Amino acid sequence: PDPISPAGRASDVHIATAYDDEQGLAQLMQRCEAITTEFENVPAGALATLAAQRPVAPAPTAVAIAQDRIAEKAHFATCARETGVGPAPYAVIEAEADLARVPDALLPGILKTARLGYDGKGQVRVDDRAALAAAWERLGRVPCVLEQRLALRDELSVIVARGADGAIVHFPVQRNLHRDGILAVTEVWPGNVPDALAQRAVAATHAIAVQLHYVGVLCVEFFIVDDGSADGALVVNEMAPRPHNSGHYTIDACDVSQFELQVRALAGLPLAAPRQHSAAVMLNLLGDLWWRDGQPVTPDWAGVLALPGIHLHLYGKQTARPGRKMGHLTVTAADPQSAIAAATVAAQRLGIAPWR
Ligand code: ADP
Ligand code: MG
Repeated sequence: PDPISPAGRASDVHIATAYDDEQGLAQLMQRCEAITTEFENVPAGALATLAAQRPVAPAPTAVAIAQDRIAEKAHFATCARETGVGPAPYAVIEAEADLARVPDALLPGILKTARLGYDGKGQVRVDDRAALAAAWERLGRVPCVLEQRLALRDELSVIVARGADGAIVHFPVQRNLHRDGILAVTEVWPGNVPDALAQRAVAATHAIAVQLHYVGVLCVEFFIVDDGSADGALVVNEMAPRPHNSGHYTIDACDVSQFELQVRALAGLPLAAPRQHSAAVMLNLLGDLWWRDGQPVTPDWAGVLALPGIHLHLYGKQTARPGRKMGHLTVTAADPQSAIAAATVAAQRLGIAPWR
């Protein structure tokens, strides 16, 4: 709907209507042989309208599950019987009476709206029952899940692409650092995640995709928590039915990107397994970088582009607000140490806090 959206600026045609506008959907069906989405909050009903006339992937039913944390967690719990990787302990809050039934073990916790949350929005950290009740009030008494707040050792994500024929390929496991609920840094190279853990995360992601009969690119986010073992235990956090921010490095560090696999899955083309050819560090560029001491500034792009292996992606968003994703920077190198070194200097020049 946004007349000046970044995707609109890059597209041949931009149909700027509401997602559920009948004429807009009719126009889309007229112009397109197949339809996908890279945003999970397109109403599933609009996708269902399109799917009656055109191939749509991912299917509206799969998107509907990913749109709703309650349905999503139920799906994860089902898959856990096969994979052994389940979600964090949680309770569903849909009515006042559910608050009283919350087990003590879920506190301190995080209350998350079932729908429309992103980048840590729609989430409140709650320490006790009084805070929980106040937070649910503040969130407008909408359906929520309360999750136990876990001590995270690390965060990972896995991106798979699955075709209508059931063929499935995946990217290397990504290691992610979040700050204030927003992805800040993704690092990817062999050995950055212990092999056994990476294999379990990939297997769990496969199962989650297969049991959804999923077609397209799917990202699943995981937590690693201590369980006494050397590697720690995997917990499944959430999924995104689309290319994902933690996979943006694939544009520059892999021979096939997550976006190409999305197109291939949609068009019924073969899904060749992607190969990562460079170690990668991806830094998100948040709107904060455009401000210093309350004054607007232009980030030092020349200083960053002077470094080796820099791939700068700016999305063309009009206003830089704190916490808003304005672009990202991928640093590629022949080895992890070189990628970290260049990314560290880039972060310093842009005003991003060090992460190692
Ligand atoms: P979003 O849709 O905003 O990405 P997430 O549920 O992935 O929401 O939460 C964002 C981040 O907040 C996570 O990546 C993690 O760093 C932190 N977080 C979320 N849930 C928990 C939890 N149960 N315990 C500890 N940290 C959490
Ligand atoms: Mg997330």
